[in-house]
Amino acid sequence: MLSKTKIAELSNVQTPFYYYDMDLLDQTLNSVKKESDAYGYKVHYAVKANANDRILKTIKEKGLGADCVSGYEVKKALEIGFDPRGVVFAGVGKADWEINLGLDNEIACFNVESIPELEIIDELARKKGTVANVALRINPNVNANTHHYITTGLEENKFGINQWDLEKVIDRLSELTSVRLQGLHFHIGSQITDLTSYKELCLRVNEIQKWLLGRRIFPEVINVGGGLGIDYQNPDGNPMPDFQAFFKLFNDILELKPGQELHFELGRSLVAQCGTLLTKILYVKDGVQTKFAIVDAGMNDLIRPALYQAFHKVENLTSDGAFSKYDVVGPICESSDCFGKAVLLPETKRGDLFAIRSTGAYGEVMASQYNLRQIPQAYYSDEF
Ligand SMILES: *Cc1c(COP(=O)(O)O)cnc(C)c1O
Repeated sequence: MLSKTKIAELSNVQTPFYYYDMDLLDQTLNSVKKESDAYGYKVHYAVKANANDRILKTIKEKGLGADCVSGYEVKKALEIGFDPRGVVFAGVGKADWEINLGLDNEIACFNVESIPELEIIDELARKKGTVANVALRINPNVNANTHHYITTGLEENKFGINQWDLEKVIDRLSELTSVRLQGLHFHIGSQITDLTSYKELCLRVNEIQKWLLGRRIFPEVINVGGGLGIDYQNPDGNPMPDFQAFFKLFNDILELKPGQELHFELGRSLVAQCGTLLTKILYVKDGVQTKFAIVDAGMNDLIRPALYQAFHKVENLTSDGAFSKYDVVGPICESSDCFGKAVLLPETKRGDLFAIRSTGAYGEVMASQYNLRQIPQAYYSDEF
């Protein structure tokens, strides 16, 4: 929560902009580190959640690895100083240059999603006279009980290898000499708040491990992906996810073999709560039944509400008037450019400062220049 003096200072800054609470980021990273270290688990940060340099540097300094989903993310992670041995590369459509980049930098692992991809990685690695570590991304057919667009672990999905195809993939793998099976990879979706989805995943991993063992295959690494959710409704009450309960569940249910490592790829749960989008009210407009608070941030600055009907808590930081309902909308020429409908807010007037909360993940990194607007600035609590 921001102090009165801080709000006064922030009111003088050109809006819209992202503001990052670096203390909260630090506490969150300390917590995830402590709770995962307790079991010897390794956490990779999913760079796609927020690829801002300051955020990446802070995460790198805590000793986390990097989970990348494009060659550009691999490049960025290496530039920031992540150890290539802690960089994994996932994605259903890796281009040749992206695979070559990973090979040249000797990244830890390619998470592979199909036989054709496996064959190309093998071919490119052979040309370089090297052997690529791969993990098979298996589709565990677990429902993440989250928004349709961010469910990734179901059968009819562009992601991953289906279980019934696994035999074929394993056979093909045994014929290829420039790829080496390092592990299994799973990722069931995002913003998962019901831990029973992860329990289901653990049980599925146990089954698959048994099946592989029957074929004398011992993956060194089990990577269970990311997706842990955060509390968008109550960011001040729950500023950090319960990492302790999360890792404990895996320890309780997932049957690791001796010497096997368990890896995670957390994105949102590490960075969402430390970010806030600050925006000013341009106009308050009366509709037929609705009052519109028109803000200077748009869906180009934060696309989650328009893209996933995502909820973000909206606060008026500079009014303590009587409460009524407002639709909070942006200036973009699209009806979906709306941050919240019938939001209960204190009496709002031109010039008030709004905070759109929990926007540290999939916020700034998804900003675009639609309508030729500018990518919003970022400021950090330890600098300003
Ligand atoms: C997006 C993604 C993640 C991170 O998801 P979060 O919900 O942000 O934790 C992890 N692994 C893969 C493969 C992903 O695509």
